[in-house]
Amino acid sequence: MAVTTRRISDNLSHIRDDIAVACEKARRVPADVSIVAVTKQVDFETVRHLLDAGLSEFGENRAAQLARRAEEMNTYLERRRTPLPAPVRWHMIGHLQRNKIKTVLPTVSVVHSVDSLRLAEALNKRAGHCACTVDAFVQVNCSEEPQKHGCAVGAASHLAEMMATMPHVRVVGLMTMAPLTDDAEAARPSFARLREIFEDTRREAAVGDHFRHLSMGMSQDYAVAVEEGATVLRIGSALFA
Ligand SMILES: *Cc1c(COP(=O)(O)O)cnc(C)c1O
Repeated sequence: MAVTTRRISDNLSHIRDDIAVACEKARRVPADVSIVAVTKQVDFETVRHLLDAGLSEFGENRAAQLARRAEEMNTYLERRRTPLPAPVRWHMIGHLQRNKIKTVLPTVSVVHSVDSLRLAEALNKRAGHCACTVDAFVQVNCSEEPQKHGCAVGAASHLAEMMATMPHVRVVGLMTMAPLTDDAEAARPSFARLREIFEDTRREAAVGDHFRHLSMGMSQDYAVAVEEGATVLRIGSALFA
């Protein structure tokens, strides 16, 4: 699917308007909410339009595609003349298998989907080999659907605390995926729950100063997510509609 810069800019300004309204309701400031543009369903030409629209944080949910995209991006950036608003950063937002860590590191800046100690340890080890540090979210299965990725609600604080001791992982917060429905309000309980776990963790666990983000909200439900405290939205289809 290819979409023009104009369409993307229009969609983006709608999204930003919605964010501003949600922030006002929640007495928050829009500057505290960032957008990761999820590019899994579009071609590279469209990714370039996202850059032209001023976006610089990109998310992919599969390791191989993330690596391929990042390489395409580097090739493109070497030739690009127009300056960028900010350096491009890649976010791994989908489930990450341990044997795929080497595919995404050191390219990836942020992993949103750490849901086990084994995965966190493997990430730390590999980042150590690359002499880099990777930002990481603990993914929590707030809706407690059995088939879903994410650690159990009761395990999140401890996992975050363990990650805070790892030299090559910087634990930056919590992430969740709401149940998939067309009803944005159906997502609210999951978001509110993630926020609660986040506050409890900050109060009771030694997680460090970088632990201040909530990655929650997608195209269907980002406004509700902002009302519930999201600081990072992962948005795909609403940018390309
Ligand atoms: C695809 C995806 C998104 C974005 O979904 P849209 O509904 O297209 O906004 C967000 N997070 C994850 C983990 C995804 O896989």
